[in-house]
Order: sequence, then C-alpha cells, then structure tokens
Amino acid sequence: MRRMVLAVSLLAAAMAVPARAQTWAVDDPVLKQIWEEGTARSQIYSLAQVLLDSVGPRLTGTPEADGAMNWLVATFQGMGIPARKEQYGTWASWRGGITHVDLLKPRARALEANLLGWSAGTKGKPVQGPVILLPEFKDSAEFRAWLPGAKGRFIALDAAQPTCRPDRQWQEFGAPGRGAGAGGPFGGAPAVGSVADTTSSYGRMVAQRNAARAAWQQRLRATGLNLNALRTALEDAGALGFVQSNWSNETGINKIFTAITKKAPAVDLSCEDYGLVFRLAERNQGPLLRVSSEGEHLGEAPIYNVVAEIKGSTKPNEYVLLSAHYDSYHIAPGATDNASGTATMLEALRILKQVYPNPKRTIIAGFWNSEEQGLNGSRAFVTDHPDIVRGIHTVFNEDTGTGRITNISGQGFLSAAEYIGRWVNKLPAELTRELRLTFPGSPSGGGSDYASFVCAGVPAFSLSTLGWDYGNYTWHTNRDTFDKLVFDDLRNNAVLTAMLVYLAAEDAQPMPRDRRTVLPGGRGGPGVWPTCGEPMRTGPRQ
Ligand SMILES: [Zn+2]
Repeated sequence: MRRMVLAVSLLAAAMAVPARAQTWAVDDPVLKQIWEEGTARSQIYSLAQVLLDSVGPRLTGTPEADGAMNWLVATFQGMGIPARKEQYGTWASWRGGITHVDLLKPRARALEANLLGWSAGTKGKPVQGPVILLPEFKDSAEFRAWLPGAKGRFIALDAAQPTCRPDRQWQEFGAPGRGAGAGGPFGGAPAVGSVADTTSSYGRMVAQRNAARAAWQQRLRATGLNLNALRTALEDAGALGFVQSNWSNETGINKIFTAITKKAPAVDLSCEDYGLVFRLAERNQGPLLRVSSEGEHLGEAPIYNVVAEIKGSTKPNEYVLLSAHYDSYHIAPGATDNASGTATMLEALRILKQVYPNPKRTIIAGFWNSEEQGLNGSRAFVTDHPDIVRGIHTVFNEDTGTGRITNISGQGFLSAAEYIGRWVNKLPAELTRELRLTFPGSPSGGGSDYASFVCAGVPAFSLSTLGWDYGNYTWHTNRDTFDKLVFDDLRNNAVLTAMLVYLAAEDAQPMPRDRRTVLPGGRGGPGVWPTCGEPMRTGPRQ
C-alpha cells in the first residue's frame, strides 16, 4: 500500500514539472506564449482522456461517431471557437453493441471475440451451434452442391496460425539451423534462425505457416467466390455465423476490419481462441459455440466532417489548415489512429485561440470522416469548397501515431524548402533537434488526408512521427487504446503544430504552388503528379 502511495505521488510530481528550458532562435513573444500555454497549461491529456475513454470508437456511420462529432463541436464551442458539422453524404448506419462468444463443448470457455464491422448481430439472443471448417472443394460446382450443408453451423473462414508467438520470439529463441555455421558451447554464438533456413525452428515455422496459408487460399478460391460473396452465399444457405481471425503478429493483438452480413454474425477471435476452435473442428472434437450479439443495421444516416475556424483579421480569405481524420475502427477508440492526431490539432487550436486569437489568415481545423474507407471526408471537403481550396496557404496533417514529429517532406512543392525552412528555423531547439526535412520530396498519392489536398496542387504536409511499432501494435487493432498514447511527445507535437500554424498565418505571401518536375519511371518521385480520387459519399457496399 505504502509503495503504491509513493508511486502515485511520484507520478503527480512528474506531471507537474514546469515548462522545460528552451533555446530560442528568434525573440518572438507569440512563439514564447505558445510554448508556455502548451507546456505549462497543456490540456491534451484531459482532452484525449474524454475522447478515448468516454466518447470512444468512431467508425463512420455509427451513432457513436455521430455522438463524437457532437462532442467535438461542443468542445470547441466551450473554447470559444466556432465549429460546425458539415454533411457530405449518407452512410449505412450500424451499431456494434456488445458481443459475447462462448465455447460450450468439448469444454466451457468464454472466447476473446469481436464483431466485425457492419456484420449482423443475433438480435441480442444467443445463437448456438457446431463449428465446421469451410470444407475443401474440387470446384465451385461441388461447393454449390454442398451449400445446404452450411445450415445450422458456424463456419470457420480463415487459416489458423501455427503459433501465436510473434516472429521476433522465434528469431530470438528458436533453435538455429544447419545454416548457422559453427554454433554451440565451443563454437561461438549460434546464428539467429533465418526465414530462408528451413533447418532452423523459425524457418520451419514460417514454411509451415506459408503452406497452411496457401492451402487455405486455395480452399477459398475453389468456391469460386470472393470472401464477401462467400459469406453471403453461406448465410443465405442458413449458416449461423462466421468465425475469423486476423492476427497482427504481436501477442494478444488482432486487426479488426469489416464483414458486411445481413443475418449471420461474423466474429473475429483472438489468435489463440481461433486456433483452439479450428483444431477442435479439424480433429472432430465437436466444438459447440454460442454467440450473442447486439450488432444491428440502422438504415442510412447522414455523415459529416467537423470544421472549426478562427477568422482571419487582415486576410480572411486566405487559410492555414490543421487536418486530422476523426474516424476510427470500432473495437478500440483509435488512440494512435487517429485520436492522437485529433487531440494534437484540438490542443493546437486551443493554444492558438488563447495566445493568437486574431490571426492574419483564417485558421481552419478539419476533422475528417471516413479516411479509413478512402480519404472520403477530406476529398469531399476539397470538392465542396473550391473557394477555400483556392485560398489555402498551407495544410498540416497529423495521422502517423503518437511519437515525436521527426519528419516533414515537401511533397514535391518547390517553395516548401524556403517556407518550411524559415518556420522551422524560428522554433526552439527542443522541438527541432530530431526533425528531418526532405525537399522537395515527392507528392503522396495516398496514406492520409494531406493527399486529398496535394493532388489538387495545394501545399499540404504530413507531420510524421516516430512509429512506436504502429504497424503491428496499434494500427487498426483491438489494442489501439488510451494507454498507448505518449503524452510527453503529444504535448510537444501540439506546440510544434501551433507554432507552424502561427508562422504560416503571419507570412507575407502565401506559399507558391510550383511543383517539382516529376521524373519518368519513378526516379526521384512518381512519373505523374497524383490525380484526385472521387469521394465515396455513400457506403459501405459489399
Ligand atoms: Zn489514420
């Protein structure tokens, strides 16, 4: 108990540390006030805590996402910053609710399961039945003939992993192969197992995994249907539901996407639980499953972006944009994708309102919807607001996780070096010592919402952060949760962003839009400047 009290008081002391000393390149009172407001009086922890823990996941088209939009507008209004929801389409509305999946036989166990996005539920009542693996068929005719056999069963639709230990453990602890050379107690350090060396534990495991995956792909192909169409055929034939698993190659972590079904729930099981059910079915040990899910389709509903604005005083028709997508997947609150970017932009705008309430140019913060389905919210904004797009000086986008901002590319704009270089030179060394600038850089055709502006010739930049194992660990996973945020970095990122926005809003001239010469064959960039895609204003469709 005593130890716990001590730990809590140490934590409180650490959080109360005042603004660190900083090294200023220029004597600019606004930059100094931004630093002071963003470090000594940072609100980013409190803002992010409510957003992640109380507001929660924000899958496009869900009532939860709509509630999150209302929260964001109200939060801005509480800061005295005008904000609005802008409808740009309608979407198939869906609620995930609570889902439970239990193994009843051959032994009882509650399984770690999540309903996939836009999957049907069970109307809250438990549905019970045996699990079978999708059988192996010669061809689609044989599959069609078998189809009535799906009735009353849960169907397993993914290959099982041979191991739920991440590769890095096999590489570290697996037995070395014959290719390891002189290893062992008297021959120096044994070499780490390599994937190419199938005499090592790791190499053998990978070969086994690849073979199982290829065989399962063949099993799916033999039905003659893609996965969506296969689920539809099976549910129409009376299948009770689907079990799947999309493991992320990290302990306890799955990626959770979507499976559009009308009647039969599709659930993702953890790597371990899917393997359990799969082996029981494969070896005829009679797995019996019970699924209970509140998932339900709610018809079409309007979808929105949220736009907040601090009006410019002398150049109101020129704009500096803060940009971050607001939507996430539905199983976790999208801490690093993209509550982190949202909170950064929210806090940056809060700081600016406090210390720079009358900017020269208008400052807009766009919180885009449906980035995850194809940059749809930001593409719609660019399409629907040609006047604003014409008047944009520059766009700063945040959507790369939770670490420190360490990289800005010029995205192929020739003036980026002069402008960004000038801004960065005015920032305190604490924020820039790890910052790498790449000029002129190459225009991105996708990745996040800045691409929706770059394709239209608008100088738009990604404030790229360190990864913290983003790809396997948090990106679209069930573990993208509040605890993964690194507030020490997020606080600084909000300060850095606010400073860049302030300096851009004060610039004498807007950034010229001259583009680099793009080289054929992808040398030094793409062969052509990316073209803008149409936003999806309705969806999702199978
Ligand atoms: Zn994202």
